[in-house]
Amino acid sequence: AKEGGRGRHAMFEEPLDARLHERGALLADLRQAVARRELLLHYQPRVAAADGGIRSAEALVRWQHPGRGLVPPGVFIPLAEESDLIESIGSWVLDEACRQLALWRRQGRVLDRLSVNVSPRQLQSGRLVETVEAALLRHGVPWRQLELEVTESLLVGDARQASAQLAELRQRGVLIALDDFGTGYSSLATLRDLPIDVMKVDRAFVRDLGSDASAQAITRAILTLAQSLGKHSVAEGIEGEAQAAALRQLGCDELQGYLFGRPMPAAEFEQRLPQISAA
Ligand code: C2E
Ligand code: CA
Ligand code: CA
Ligand code: CA
Repeated sequence: AKEGGRGRHAMFEEPLDARLHERGALLADLRQAVARRELLLHYQPRVAAADGGIRSAEALVRWQHPGRGLVPPGVFIPLAEESDLIESIGSWVLDEACRQLALWRRQGRVLDRLSVNVSPRQLQSGRLVETVEAALLRHGVPWRQLELEVTESLLVGDARQASAQLAELRQRGVLIALDDFGTGYSSLATLRDLPIDVMKVDRAFVRDLGSDASAQAITRAILTLAQSLGKHSVAEGIEGEAQAAALRQLGCDELQGYLFGRPMPAAEFEQRLPQISAA
């Protein structure tokens, strides 16, 4: 792939000092990225398993670097998480997601909700509730339209404080999704300890549906668990029709993956939304 290709190559194959230099350079650029308006969001559709209609989307951040082209989040989010930058990037993502939601709303484009990834560091700051509230209020977006995706890695820090903030957000109407479910070390305990509404089945299981009996058994178990706990289920990373069929048959609520659409710019994504007469 051309996007981020050069950066990735340099990071993994050059000698250590070159790599450190490279990291430092990237981090220095990243410090300017928000102010220079180099970040943007792409949107990946999620469709209802029942009728194939787009109900929601996941917002995924990209970095349009002046020299390197489009840098994927797998490269710069970890850098941001190791520095203090994840706070400002995370706030920008929330604000931009709300701005876009409000715009679509004014245009009469129907989207039940938008899902935004939240890094554990954003919860550690203790300011997530106010950041979310500020973004929603600034753009006049209802709490119900926002979903936050968290991973169990947030329990590594102050679990009490993190789950208290999630509980407060949830109480106001935000949906909380547990991302990458099944890939961590303590998924079941996480399910008990965190206030969540949505379970996202990780791509690792979805990918091997149909070729690997244990992936199928695990997916079935996760979806059964979601059902008995009354959680909404989303499967991600669906690339083939057979995987989609298997997930529908197992009772998964929403489907997400290249089969239904790659993450794409807002202008492209909105073409796929139903439109009612504009307000
Ligand atoms: P994630 O939250 O697990 O997001 C799903 C990733 O899988 C996305 O990669 C998406 O493009 C990719 N994907 C979706 N469907 C398919 C498929 O059918 N096949 C395959 N092979 N891949 C698929 P992306 O956009 O590169 O994001 C990577 C990770 O970066 C995300 O993983 C998330 O952890 C992080 N990230 C992205 N945006 C944000 C953000 O705004 N804030 C934070 N904190 N993290 C973010
Ligand atoms: Ca996610
Ligand atoms: Ca995920
Ligand atoms: Ca992930």
